[in-house]
Amino acid sequence: MPHAVADLRSLSRAGVDALVARLGEKPYRARQIFRWLHQKGAATLDEMSDLPAALRARIAAEIPLSALERAEERRSADGTIKWTWRTVDGKLIESVYMPETGRKTLCVSTQAGCAVGCTFCMTGTMGLSRNLTSGEIVDQVARANRRLLELGEGAPPRPLTNLVFMGMGEPLHNYDNVKAALEVLLSEDGPNFSNRHVTVSTAGIVPEMRRFGEETDVKLAVSLNATTDEVRNALMPLNRRWPLRDLLAACREFPMKKGRRITFEYVLLGGVNDSDEDAVRLSRLVKGIPAKVNLIPYNENPGLGFRAPEPGRVEAFRDRLVAANVTAVVRRNRGRDIAAACGQLAAEGGPGDPRRRGADRTQTLTGRGSAG
Ligand code: SF4
Repeated sequence: MPHAVADLRSLSRAGVDALVARLGEKPYRARQIFRWLHQKGAATLDEMSDLPAALRARIAAEIPLSALERAEERRSADGTIKWTWRTVDGKLIESVYMPETGRKTLCVSTQAGCAVGCTFCMTGTMGLSRNLTSGEIVDQVARANRRLLELGEGAPPRPLTNLVFMGMGEPLHNYDNVKAALEVLLSEDGPNFSNRHVTVSTAGIVPEMRRFGEETDVKLAVSLNATTDEVRNALMPLNRRWPLRDLLAACREFPMKKGRRITFEYVLLGGVNDSDEDAVRLSRLVKGIPAKVNLIPYNENPGLGFRAPEPGRVEAFRDRLVAANVTAVVRRNRGRDIAAACGQLAAEGGPGDPRRRGADRTQTLTGRGSAG
């Protein structure tokens, strides 16, 4: 897979330290640069007004600095905002802002497209274009914060309080860049998010889950979406490789921080995985795992062949879980009118946009209704 060129925004703090040392500059310059990039979201070196022009020129000669370009902004009646960003090489990716009382969350993408191919997900129809660099992952947060301040949403220095890695892509398929991005996002000289306010979601890349738990301290979500291998194979082809038994074993063995729980995402697809029997099986599957189940009524994407649950089914499913002592909440669908809801991300007009292939589809974007 082609790797995007090294970019100043993708450097770790140690990488910026090394760059500054190589240029023969005083160490404090590294902190200045890092803060400009990740606290203030500087799009260019010219914005770094307290760096001498000569130093900016020498940095520019060493390493490029790019920023995501806002290609589109769509605002929902419920306050949700979906941004489509264009990368320096022309890929379209998306982030979704979801304001709620007491928290402002951004759902970020980790890949342009996705290789997992979940059959209910618009992103899954795109295939994988490439991994995002850590700079492109953290820049979604910087660009969103800046834009929110412009819109008068939230307080400086950063309106966003929470992050979920549930946009386009499977984070654990882009492990190193996701890990590097997390280090920046949690760092004091960066946006300084709390690890309790950052959740990474996986479709179930079993071999990487333990490593992820050992090497990071953010929260984990797992897209489950089925209670039998037969159904999960049909919805999430990666289940053939890592079936439910292996996935649930990885969850049981996950090196969980004290007081934490795994979130299981479960997209309810009408007539596919939303029966009472499914609810009972689900409660058995997660038994013994400190867990919470998020139930997500499916957002219909014309052409994918799935439908939303019948009225009342979602509540009945939840009640079955609760009766079996499973913590379960129904996640309100957000931004449906702008195709920002789970399973709808697929950068319109981009390579994954089915309309480019002439299909009658009006919805878009991101991933993890789902999964990854
Ligand atoms: S649901 Fe997530 S893992 Fe599955 S295809 Fe969509 S983006 Fe990829």
